[in-house]
Amino acid sequence: MIRFLNSLSRALEPFQPLDPAGKVVKMYTCGPTVYSFAHIGNFRTYIFEDLLQRHLEARGYTVNRVMNITDVDDKTIRNSRAANIPLAEFTEKFATSFFEDMRALRIKDANVYPAATDPENIAEMIAMIDFLVREEIAYQAEDGSVYFRINRFPDYGHLAHLDLDELRPSGRIQSDEYEKESLGDFALWKAWDAADGPVGWDSPWGRGRPGWHIECSAMATRILGPQIDIHCGGVDNLFPHHEAEIAQSESCTGKKFVRYWLHSAHLLVEGQKMSKSLGNFYTIRDLIARGFTGREIRYALLRVNYRLQLNFTFDGMVEARQSLLRLDEWLQRLRDLAADRPPDKEYAPATSDSFFAALDDDLNISAALAEVFKQIRTTNQLMDANELQPAQAAALLDWWENVNQVLQIQSEEEVIPAAVEELLKQRAAARTAKDWQLSDALRKKISGLGWTVKDTKDGQKATKAAR
Ligand code: AMP
Ligand code: ZN
Repeated sequence: MIRFLNSLSRALEPFQPLDPAGKVVKMYTCGPTVYSFAHIGNFRTYIFEDLLQRHLEARGYTVNRVMNITDVDDKTIRNSRAANIPLAEFTEKFATSFFEDMRALRIKDANVYPAATDPENIAEMIAMIDFLVREEIAYQAEDGSVYFRINRFPDYGHLAHLDLDELRPSGRIQSDEYEKESLGDFALWKAWDAADGPVGWDSPWGRGRPGWHIECSAMATRILGPQIDIHCGGVDNLFPHHEAEIAQSESCTGKKFVRYWLHSAHLLVEGQKMSKSLGNFYTIRDLIARGFTGREIRYALLRVNYRLQLNFTFDGMVEARQSLLRLDEWLQRLRDLAADRPPDKEYAPATSDSFFAALDDDLNISAALAEVFKQIRTTNQLMDANELQPAQAAALLDWWENVNQVLQIQSEEEVIPAAVEELLKQRAAARTAKDWQLSDALRKKISGLGWTVKDTKDGQKATKAAR
């Protein structure tokens, strides 16, 4: 049974999706605001979400995940104006880089990546605001902007565990990101002003643009429906962003918006908050330029439980690299030993569920990784003593295959592509039939795909050709 620490109740709750068949999981993950390159803190959150999705899939669920692209808000407008580039062109560039970084980190694609400025999303935002205004839950103020009246939503503050009675009398908040102290009615629609330049849409309340919070409510509802199973983001999104999403969505639909709220703690760099002024602000590109690979970065950002702060350090990166090398060596040893032997399906360590059971416990990745390294340690000892059977090694490789579906940390060089596997099979058959000409031709074909094949006493071995 999977359990999650739900930010709403602050308790560990057994996971049960809304789907009556108990199979499909609807998941909404707040995506990037594309006003600059995403930093490693953002990717810590996206990697946690990837781990969550992959573990749910390993447990048999089908995950329908939406990740939005925030391509209009205070920051995107400000930066595109400063760069003197039209908003769409400006955000497009950072959205493209975001997808490149996601691939480098082996993060599975969401099913849909809606952008806030897609016409169907703007239309949904306007429709939701219109409903709220009609119900007098929202109002247009003298400044032309439309605000959500928080005292019309008694549950406001529940997610952040704030006591509404203790809050100051509500004032109006134009900015998307405000601090807890300055609580008040938040903007749903921002009336156009000169700083917006050409950015704006016509609406029943005049020209303007949506607030950040209504963007996510509208995209989540339009694509996933009024009720979703899991909503994630970094802890800084919890208030006011997610609190506002609940208020907007539930006021419009009358239904409980989200069943499980999962928030990842922040990433620090060398013990400090990441900031440009401290010179400790890193993007994925920065780390790749320093010689780290996508999988090393992924592993370094993945290995701390999501509810704990992660202190990113360069020592930690080196440690991550060493752990991965250990893993690579172990896999190579297992492959050498297993050769092509069929796996021993009864071999207990390889049928162990403890890796997945650890993840069932609110994604306890550090316990799950401890299981992996325990396995590496014990089987290395057995191999040192010549006590591991080839069929057992093959069984461990099958176990690893499942584990790596979730972790995605296997060295790329070692994954033999299906096309190469197929040629290797044909070549093995050709050699058995003593058809040396065909065998050589197949070797050339394999080499054309960037792989070198060697014939050893244990059969053929393919390695990635050094280029
Ligand atoms: P943004 O592009 O600022 O909207 O942020 C995208 C995602 O990254 C959100 O889920 C944020 O909560 C998350 N995030 C921002 N900064 C950090 C950080 N330092 N550590 C972890 N997650 C973060
Ligand atoms: Zn959001």
